[in-house]
Amino acid sequence: MNAERTYDTAVIGAGVFGAWTAYRLREAGQAVALLDGYGPAHSRASSGGESRIIRMGYGADEVYTRWAARSLALWQDFFREVGRPLFQRTGVLWLAHADDPYTLATIETLARVGVKFERLTPAELEGRFPQFTLGPDAWGVFEPDSGVIMARSAVREVVREAVGRGVTYLPEAVVAPEGRGRLDSVNTRSGRKLAAANFVFACGPWLPKIFPRLLGEWIRPTRQEVFFFGVEAGDPAFTTPAMPAWVDFMKLVYGAPDLEGRGFKLAIDAHGPPFDPDAGERLATAEGLALAREHLARLLPGLRDAPVVETRVCQYENTPNGDFLIDRHPDFENVWLVGGGSGHGFKHGPALGEYVASKVTRADTDSEPRFALSAEGKARRRLVY
Ligand SMILES: Cc1cc2nc3c(=O)[nH]c(=O)nc-3n(C[C@H](O)[C@H](O)[C@H](O)COP(=O)(O)OP(=O)(O)OC[C@H]3O[C@@H](n4cnc5c(N)ncnc54)[C@H](O)[C@@H]3O)c2cc1C
Repeated sequence: MNAERTYDTAVIGAGVFGAWTAYRLREAGQAVALLDGYGPAHSRASSGGESRIIRMGYGADEVYTRWAARSLALWQDFFREVGRPLFQRTGVLWLAHADDPYTLATIETLARVGVKFERLTPAELEGRFPQFTLGPDAWGVFEPDSGVIMARSAVREVVREAVGRGVTYLPEAVVAPEGRGRLDSVNTRSGRKLAAANFVFACGPWLPKIFPRLLGEWIRPTRQEVFFFGVEAGDPAFTTPAMPAWVDFMKLVYGAPDLEGRGFKLAIDAHGPPFDPDAGERLATAEGLALAREHLARLLPGLRDAPVVETRVCQYENTPNGDFLIDRHPDFENVWLVGGGSGHGFKHGPALGEYVASKVTRADTDSEPRFALSAEGKARRRLVY
């Protein structure tokens, strides 16, 4: 089989990570191919959901706060440039309880990095957001400049723009490479052979399938259910600007206002059972719905009896502690592994694309040790949310 044209970099996977990586590499002047067997932000992809929250708070993990702030600016620049308003500045409300250590650490980091936020007392919370019923120990942090990205449309737009700037997009599934040393080309399932100087595998929850020996234990996809509840016609209480996006990491639940008429979104953030991104059936379960309704009844009694208007099943691709994976393949000097979004990666697409492009194009850039494929110092416990 003869290889076709040779690229500087082939990016495999057109989710949010691969799309932004391809876009940035092209901006750096590279000849780039972007491949995806199912298409950009398809229904099985982790990036294929309706909406994704972009918040700045990350406990004490300043690197993610900085990346989120950088990414928010870059997303907004991008949407302005392409003339698509795919970011909704709904604000993001953190619901905290008593001396909730993650939210307290978040406040310190936001202040240090210079991100705008307001700390809300229980009375202020109740006054500003009367839709919520919260216990007496509840307090809040409000990020006024954060919000929600219309995820699937945004990724498709990044790919469209990347192609407009010269990236070659190919609807092809890549076969796992074999051997070691330098990888000259990859084969696709349809029988094509694609040569490149560098390869970036940004395959999200598929990474452990492609590299089972290396990543079978490192990245564990879990099944996650999302519910959209119908709000009453003409009721502004559950849409923006009255209702922000919100997170409650102590109770492992989050939500977003009714945007574009899809319904009020509520999702469980606790890791679900193991999930196969190709074969997994994507119907929400009765138990998942019961749990979502329990949260609704407790937090938002106005929606207690709201009907489900849509559901989705997606997957998180969890690394041992929630840090991303961005590292060279230990067996191939010119292959990069990019993934491990772990339920919080979407927002970071633009900053991640910049980082990966700089790693691929320049040998002298600093590496963030947290993204390394190394078990050293890693707890097998979720630390990043
Ligand atoms: C329910 C849910 C809610 C979430 N909420 C948020 C949120 O509010 N905020 C936030 O920031 N993040 C959130 N996330 C996380 C975020 O969506 C993910 O971290 C992010 O989308 C991961 O993107 P990715 O590009 O790594 O993976 P994907 O989007 O899955 O993309 C990987 C791509 O690789 C392709 N691929 C795989 N194998 C091959 C192959 N062999 N050849 C060619 N192509 C291949 C696939 O087809 C796929 O398109 C959420 C995730 C879920 C599931």
